[in-house]
Amino acid sequence: MYDCSAVSALLPLSKPEAKIRPALKLALSQALQPDGAEQVASFGRWWLDILTGQWVLSMGAASLLEVDVGLHTTFASGFSQVVTDDVGILVSQLSTEVTTAIHCEFRIIHELRGLRWLRLISVPASSSKQDMLTGILVDITASKHAAMREHFSFESTRFLVGAHSLGDAITKVIQLVCDNLGWEWGAYWSLEQEQMGANKLSCQYYWDSTSDDKLAPFTQDSRALRIPTGAGLVGTVWSTARPNWVEDMVNDQSFLRRKSALACGLKSGYAFPVSYVTADGRRHSPGVMEFFSCLSRQKEAQLPNLSATIGGLIAQTVQRMEQQAHIRQLAQIDDLTGLTNRNHFHQLLDAACLKATASNTVFGVLFIDLDRFKPINDAFGHEAGNVVLREFGQRLRALTMDGGEVGRLGGDEFAILMTPKGAITQLKVLAERVLQAANKPFMFGERELSVSASIGISVFAEHGWTSAELMRNADAAMYRSKQNGRNALSFFSDSSSDNLAHQSSLVQQLTMETELHRALVNNEFFLLYQPVFDGSGARMVAIEALIRWRRANGDIVMPDIFIPIAEQSRLIMQIGRWVVQQACNDLAWLHEQGFVDLQVNINMAVPEFISPSLPEELMAIIKSSGLASSHLCLELTEGLVMKQPEKVIPVMKALRQLGFKISLDDFGMGHSSLSRLKELPISSLKIDRSFVKGLPHDRGDCAIVRTILDLGRHMKLKVIAEGVETDKQLGFLQQFGCTLIQGFILSKPKPLSELLSYRP
Ligand code: C2E
Ligand code: MG
Ligand code: MG
Repeated sequence: MYDCSAVSALLPLSKPEAKIRPALKLALSQALQPDGAEQVASFGRWWLDILTGQWVLSMGAASLLEVDVGLHTTFASGFSQVVTDDVGILVSQLSTEVTTAIHCEFRIIHELRGLRWLRLISVPASSSKQDMLTGILVDITASKHAAMREHFSFESTRFLVGAHSLGDAITKVIQLVCDNLGWEWGAYWSLEQEQMGANKLSCQYYWDSTSDDKLAPFTQDSRALRIPTGAGLVGTVWSTARPNWVEDMVNDQSFLRRKSALACGLKSGYAFPVSYVTADGRRHSPGVMEFFSCLSRQKEAQLPNLSATIGGLIAQTVQRMEQQAHIRQLAQIDDLTGLTNRNHFHQLLDAACLKATASNTVFGVLFIDLDRFKPINDAFGHEAGNVVLREFGQRLRALTMDGGEVGRLGGDEFAILMTPKGAITQLKVLAERVLQAANKPFMFGERELSVSASIGISVFAEHGWTSAELMRNADAAMYRSKQNGRNALSFFSDSSSDNLAHQSSLVQQLTMETELHRALVNNEFFLLYQPVFDGSGARMVAIEALIRWRRANGDIVMPDIFIPIAEQSRLIMQIGRWVVQQACNDLAWLHEQGFVDLQVNINMAVPEFISPSLPEELMAIIKSSGLASSHLCLELTEGLVMKQPEKVIPVMKALRQLGFKISLDDFGMGHSSLSRLKELPISSLKIDRSFVKGLPHDRGDCAIVRTILDLGRHMKLKVIAEGVETDKQLGFLQQFGCTLIQGFILSKPKPLSELLSYRP
């Protein structure tokens, strides 16, 4: 176990031939007697003749030291099993003054019980002349293990808790084990991510404590190896969840890295599972740890206990980190669609900008906004909206299977980041596919919902070097698609005549609010009127006022763009009052032109409608323009009425009492129950154009339209079909007795003066 020359240099020369002096003889006779106290308290006694270097070991001491009981003529014979590193410590202690008490800890390799810790204590001599030394030997392995476990737990916890990456933490723990327990090489194995199905273990982290490169071949071999579960040392430990040893790496046929072990001089090793049991009783085995030594180490008793501690700690850390990764993933994912969320999309875009700058490549950003999404949400409720968003998200994902990142930016806005493999026109092809994907109907239960998309495209680095610029410009291009009538795609163009197009939605919104103010002052709003005809289509019985905004540069902005923005501020009140005033003036003029009793329909947003002063204000306007309240019909969308019935219905009642008419716009899209409908003080219903669209081919739409017509008849309500575009639709409506028709087939919205052609 140790180098004898080192000992002889330190101890009084042992003389094997020397006679046993009487004092030691006495000790020998005592030592050979079985001692009850020794057995009970697990200790042994020893005597040392300083003059001759002869030792006597009692039965207890001999058993602890794994040598024969009785006389040992040399230190080497009595202490043959002491671990080499500890011989020096022991010898130097024994060489101190005899009057000084010796208190020395050392390790021995016990053939059966592995590594043991012993403590040698001497009874200090009463005088320096004394030539006999005596003392006891105690096995302190248990307390050493406890202390070591504590130390390990503390140190490993420190690494694991503070670690930001699992690799970092585990590598430090491997190092800790190697340093403290004298292993030369250690590693952590776990199931390889991409081969989860194949169940192969790979060496994820390792630590080589040698300073030269002598273990490099073993490292390489380990890193390249993929071990099936159940095979070899690591695979067996993983599948049995039990620690295991390899005593002779080179000759053990089941050890897979025999060759490289031989090349590096590694001889023995130990592996243990890193596993934990969750509250539901299931065992999880994230991995396996292994340690190797160039010594032929035997089964060391402290590792099994220690390994359970370390394994448990690492397992907990793995679990914690997996949870964190899961949380991180959740933080990057949009709940509803499972797509990348806004934040993460921006991060990916940042990374793409860096990469494209470095590699001098090109990529594109598609900014996608759904058209007519809000009415679906308002009318059928959020679940219907969610169905559309989820399904559209899936369609986008399917379109980008070959590459590209899809994100949901929020609401009905989506974005795609795509690096074209070929020409930049690929972006256009993708955008066209997105338009098609949006145009396909979405099923909400039995009902088909239809939307379209407006897309803006910006290209790195032509339209920006940063994610912010690219998004802003793609957004601006999208805005142009909206202005061009929606269901369209536009590339960002620097030379765009429209300055507004350069701004992001938020800025656009704020800018637009300011501009809407100015528009009011500068008279930039104007009204078009779309006639409503009787069932024959010959007589114009009403006109619907539809607002437009002519911007200073001549562009016409549609109400779907600016009304929602006006609705978010008090502006809608002013705009709404302007519409009523203008429409009443225009109607009065038409009355003068011979359109006696013609009625005007005015669309109202909820904020303007629920104002308590509305009835009073409307009366004042009516009077000033010389009209009767029955000439004015207010159109409220069904969805909006149903959203706040408690506020809306009282105002409706008050207005009806004053003689105004009220029409439920976009009827069929909301979810008014029939009993509710009975309570509503309305004079007419407008069948939403999405139902008219399917006439007369779509059986569902036909049934709905007929039901609404029946309902109107029973409730004595007028029913208007809006959005009538074809002869067939018109024919169907006439056949089933729809008495009021509005739609492009009869007339598009027109300027006031053009209505004169419908003079009775
Ligand atoms: P709405 O009240 O449902 O108006 C009918 C919309 O359908 C109008 O669009 C009209 O141009 C369009 N339309 C009419 N016939 C057809 C057709 O045959 N086919 C198709 N495809 N479309 C047809 P517009 O003018 O863009 O108005 C959109 C919405 O903006 C209106 O929907 C209304 O909710 C709102 N709006 C318009 N003017 C005002 C207003 O002065 N105040 C308020 N609060 N909202 C308004
Ligand atoms: Mg309307
Ligand atoms: Mg409508």
